[in-house]
Amino acid sequence: MAEFRSTDKCDVVVVGAGFAGLSAAVRLAVRGKAVTVVEEAPRLGGRATAFTHRESGQRLDNGQHALFGCYRETYDFLRVIGTADLAPLDPTLRLTMADARGRTSTLTCPAWPPPWHLVGGLLKWNALPLRDRFAATRLASLFSVVRREGAEAAAARVSPDLTVTDWLRQHRQPASLCEWLWHPLAFAALNQDPGVAAARPFVRVVGELFGRAPGAASLGVPSVPLDELYAEPAARFIESRGGNVLRGTTALVDVDPVGREHRVYAGEDILCPGAVISAVPWHAFDRLWRHEVPERLAGIAEAARQMEAAPIVTVNLWFDRPVMTERQVGLVGTQFHWAFHKDVGCRFDEGRQKDTRRLYSLVASGAEGLLRQENYELAALAERELRACVPDAAAAVCERSLVVRESRATFSLAPGAPPRPSTQTQVPGIFLAGDWTDTRLPGTIEGAVLSGHRAAAAAMITL
Ligand SMILES: Cc1cc2nc3c(=O)[nH]c(=O)nc-3n(C[C@H](O)[C@H](O)[C@H](O)COP(=O)(O)OP(=O)(O)OC[C@H]3O[C@@H](n4cnc5c(N)ncnc54)[C@H](O)[C@@H]3O)c2cc1C
Repeated sequence: MAEFRSTDKCDVVVVGAGFAGLSAAVRLAVRGKAVTVVEEAPRLGGRATAFTHRESGQRLDNGQHALFGCYRETYDFLRVIGTADLAPLDPTLRLTMADARGRTSTLTCPAWPPPWHLVGGLLKWNALPLRDRFAATRLASLFSVVRREGAEAAAARVSPDLTVTDWLRQHRQPASLCEWLWHPLAFAALNQDPGVAAARPFVRVVGELFGRAPGAASLGVPSVPLDELYAEPAARFIESRGGNVLRGTTALVDVDPVGREHRVYAGEDILCPGAVISAVPWHAFDRLWRHEVPERLAGIAEAARQMEAAPIVTVNLWFDRPVMTERQVGLVGTQFHWAFHKDVGCRFDEGRQKDTRRLYSLVASGAEGLLRQENYELAALAERELRACVPDAAAAVCERSLVVRESRATFSLAPGAPPRPSTQTQVPGIFLAGDWTDTRLPGTIEGAVLSGHRAAAAAMITL
């Protein structure tokens, strides 16, 4: 049996150092609270992290992450820790898409007020037959609700039983527009096949991106590995304000039903905080408790057990020369959905010589069908699809590949999914954060940070 030592009281213990936990802890540190973050993995960042690739010495993300202009909470968080400029937002929305017949087309939206910027861009977009270009105007009623009441309210009007495909059909969106815009967007935002994912979160995303602010759909691609973008800077911020960040330490929470004396067992320490924020993912909720799941949290635990996961497969390919002129290209009608040119985003470990090869990351979202394939098969598939869609890749030599599987990248958004828990629980002093809590957003960075900020605000009231 491990020996425990009781440590000084801290105001709040945050369990989990992903976007949710770190944003909660930073918010509390800003308000002058003494925070201890406990993370069981040796590296910070959870599902948005980076590692050193042994062969190349490069720092690689566990998967490409993109931010958008509508990620208000995320950019607030990054501004506080001083790294918002490391994920700069493009000035306008510009999307290059390519299909396996080598047809490439770029959607460029003019600097008009939303949603007219989208309509203006689509009208000029030669990826679509002329008759299909006006189809987005059939979403006019959605955009007027978004303008009047906000994207969340507009999404709430959509039946929870509809899938994205049902909803697009209801709004008579033609096949070409679905194939070249709505489906790639649904895969990217929901990490699920549009035929499976619920329409509500999709409508929320479409409303946030195209309905309100001119720059909301602008893409922000991190220019450094993810741990440098937020995880390590957030830890430094917390520590500079007197807090602690414990790595490689599993937390076990011992709940006091009255809420006065919760204890958190963390390695050899017993922490006695005024409040605990659980920022662990749904599949770790069950084992967060030192004893059984507390009775008053049993409903949340049961729903978490029923949540299903959606995977992402990333294949990194190193070519002997540049194969794309764009930073990212959407791949149409293929199993990999996006290709990112990573040279901009990859730093090299000090002391290593800069690799002259060009690195591309291909992302397959909602990738259940790919999970069982061998790495060499996945690498070959990614290479084939990139060569088919991006003609400049045809003559290049692929010298190395690395497959990264995240089998529980996000939670399923299919209609009928179990309810997502709110920030407050029935146990005083225990709060929940994490992308899977009830933010009404899909499993995204923005959802995670929003949940972290909400949990921090709720904890502040009780302290
Ligand atoms: C490959 C990939 C690509 C993605 N792309 C995008 C994208 O482009 N845009 C976007 O917005 N989102 C994207 N996402 C989703 C995004 O990464 C997640 O929504 C977000 O990171 C979730 O953060 P979180 O803090 O809620 O949870 P997590 O990141 O899962 O953090 C939870 C942490 O809790 C820790 N933990 C669990 N149990 C314990 C315990 N008992 N004690 C201590 N620690 C514990 C875990 O180790 C983990 O570090 C992507 C995800 C993946 C995997």
